Amino acid sequence: MTESAKIIDFQSLTEKIGRFNLSNKTCLIPEMNRIGTHLLAAVFRGFGIHAKVMDTYKGLDLGKEYTSGKECYPCQITMGDILHFMKEEAKRLKDTFDPEDYIYFMPEADGPCRFGMYNKYQRIVLDSFPELSRLKIGSLTTRDGYSLAGIIDDSRVRDLRKMSYFSLVVGDILDRLLWRIRPYEKKAGLTDDFIERAMHVMEGAFERFGPAKDFNSVFKQLEAVIKEGKTIIDPGIPPKPLIGIVGEIYLRTHVHANQDVIRVLERYGAEVVNASIAEWVNYTSYDRFREAKIGFRLGLRQFRLGLMKAYLKDIIGFGGDLFYQEFRQKKTYKRIRSLIDLTEDHQVGHLEKTLIEKDLFNFDVGTEACLSIAGIVEYAREGYNGVVNVYPFTCMPSTTTSAVVRPLMSELGIPYLDTPYDSSFQPGREAAIRTFMYQANQHFKRHGRKEKK
Ligand code: SF4
Repeated sequence: MTESAKIIDFQSLTEKIGRFNLSNKTCLIPEMNRIGTHLLAAVFRGFGIHAKVMDTYKGLDLGKEYTSGKECYPCQITMGDILHFMKEEAKRLKDTFDPEDYIYFMPEADGPCRFGMYNKYQRIVLDSFPELSRLKIGSLTTRDGYSLAGIIDDSRVRDLRKMSYFSLVVGDILDRLLWRIRPYEKKAGLTDDFIERAMHVMEGAFERFGPAKDFNSVFKQLEAVIKEGKTIIDPGIPPKPLIGIVGEIYLRTHVHANQDVIRVLERYGAEVVNASIAEWVNYTSYDRFREAKIGFRLGLRQFRLGLMKAYLKDIIGFGGDLFYQEFRQKKTYKRIRSLIDLTEDHQVGHLEKTLIEKDLFNFDVGTEACLSIAGIVEYAREGYNGVVNVYPFTCMPSTTTSAVVRPLMSELGIPYLDTPYDSSFQPGREAAIRTFMYQANQHFKRHGRKEKK
């Protein structure tokens, strides 16, 4: 490679990855948790952004072809999703296909694990195709708490952020509704059909009411959905063992990637609650807020006014985001829980206190391990009958989680299962889940289960 080619490659990483204005572009969103991703796209569309959720998992062979196998599994899957989409789009549009008409949305996280590298790696792969080198990667980052500044007109950014967050909370609620109803449905298949319809109804609500920030109308629609969902429950089916899921956000919410682990658990008699998406968004705001407070205290000790001023600005900004998010989330759950007993999230500050109290891990280390370890302790406290940790094979924070909580769970006598996934099908997986569910059933018989909080 010549010296000038090297320079161009590095420029590509800075110039073709970032926050780009989305007007007149199609924003391509990779599907992670199906419902939340579609609701988010609906909010974007309501605000005039042409957003599209790409089919997922259809391009896995391409994803594998253009990765070495050492990357995290979500990186392989999303690599395949974008390559497959662009290939199909080129076929469909023929001469009028122009990669510059699209922005591929791939957020990133700051910190010690590899999520910050996905978009860089994918940039290099896209650049290796002459026609795809012009496709830009729109990236939001945890560094600024997933700020949306710059992607649409400044005057609408705050509203877009508020509605986007709300759509994630509603997506979590629809997921939890699915897991609450399906194990008790009157007839097999009713819940899946219902939830697919419900997702489209809520997409319509977000597109229609989102731009005017009409939370109340979205709420009303959601309440109607929940009332309908409740009619699917057969009251004659007794409560089942309650299983909590933690783990890596993509794997635990992407049903193809995790080989539909929740459905498999249900098949063996579980009712399942998975950690939410909003929890991760709250964590990123909380972590930035926490860092700003630490930085401010340092500035104060060293009496550096400039530093204090910069951190104070962050304290107000990230603290405001966190306050708003927790307020919106709490309000939404309060209204919904008057209709059905869905599990509510813990505040991230509470989870940090749990870790400090148990001296198990520390927020200074960061990553999803903070949420997973504290989440497991909370599941145990609340009388869950078992916990499953779902993650990509070799995932660093989830492996840390496993190392920390295994001895604890064995001491507490609560069944615990690690389920690492890659694209292979392990013959013993179902047997492991069946054995775990046998233990969870025994736990349930001995201890019953407490009411969900
Ligand atoms: S959380 Fe796990 S899967 Fe995700 S980037 Fe980090 S190491 Fe990879």
